[in-house]
Amino acid sequence: MKNFGELKELIEINSYTKNKKGVDANAKIYKTMMSELGFVYREYERDEIGNHILFKSSKKDGKKLLLLGHMDTVFPEGSFCNFREDEDWIYGPGVCDMKGGNIVAIEALRNIYKKYGKIYNIDLMLVSDEEGGSDDSKHVTASVAKNYDYCMVYEAAGKNLEIVVARKGAGTFYMDIEGKAAHAGNNYKLGIDANLEAAYKIQELINITNLEKGTTVNVGKIEGGVGANTISPCAKLTFEVRYTCIKERDRVLKDIDTIVKTSHVKGISSYLSGGIQRDVMQEGEKQDKFLNSIENYMKKKLLKEKRGGVSDANIVSSQGTPALDGFGPFGDGDHTSSERALKSSFTQRINLSTKIFEGFLENKI
Ligand SMILES: [Zn+2]
Repeated sequence: MKNFGELKELIEINSYTKNKKGVDANAKIYKTMMSELGFVYREYERDEIGNHILFKSSKKDGKKLLLLGHMDTVFPEGSFCNFREDEDWIYGPGVCDMKGGNIVAIEALRNIYKKYGKIYNIDLMLVSDEEGGSDDSKHVTASVAKNYDYCMVYEAAGKNLEIVVARKGAGTFYMDIEGKAAHAGNNYKLGIDANLEAAYKIQELINITNLEKGTTVNVGKIEGGVGANTISPCAKLTFEVRYTCIKERDRVLKDIDTIVKTSHVKGISSYLSGGIQRDVMQEGEKQDKFLNSIENYMKKKLLKEKRGGVSDANIVSSQGTPALDGFGPFGDGDHTSSERALKSSFTQRINLSTKIFEGFLENKI
């Protein structure tokens, strides 16, 4: 099958987030594919990471649809690099996360090109640093997303080919706690114990968790002190938060702020750094409309799911542009050397996207 050959070609060129050369080499292949369909592109040139590329179709009045993917993978050169297939599965770095997804989008665009001869108002953005947290591309994606009415993201589908309607927001924070060192034998009372303060703060942070609402706080790393005979002068907590709605985000941020400012051990100072990385992808009225119009046009309901993990759909959604995710193939083992994608899911996903693009171009979505 032609598209697995292209997928093989993409997979065999390593595109680890920090491998600029490799990501740019992948981009070159996408450029060839997209220019054959009449797309022009804008390149966001970067020195340290691969360039981000926005492929643009012809424009006319009416709604605009953005397709979104990423070109990078989590695998450094030499770690997991080969393409392999058996009867049912394809194996390789990025096969479902998300070179396979990019191929699904492009194959569907090819179908549209064949049918209509020209593609209007559907653009494709491929970023280079999603696996690193989209620290650079999130600014580009956020500003680009504002120009579109809808966005479809090509991360992997759910087990039963669900699309993704919601993803938690997530942030990573660091709390530096400063006390005062003292000899634990001679000057016990002169010390200001940062470790003790950290112990209080850990519990308070964990208490922000509200599982019913899907809000979690995890203090994943603690550091502190110098040795058994010294009152600890400093401690540091590294923690992440995840939440399912803006209201919970605001509650969590307020609670963290209170915890930073309130000390249990007299004389302690605490400082917070870090922040929200990707805001919540929330269900809402605009997304409902988008989804309903797809389902009406297709005359069937789509399976849906919510995920705890973030993607670039979070960035688009937090700009107010309704996004749906999970249009890629089904796969598992992503971020491990057993990453694979189910062959049969490619055809199903390509058909789904083709149908949606058709409905969109015929003004029914
Ligand atoms: Zn990933």
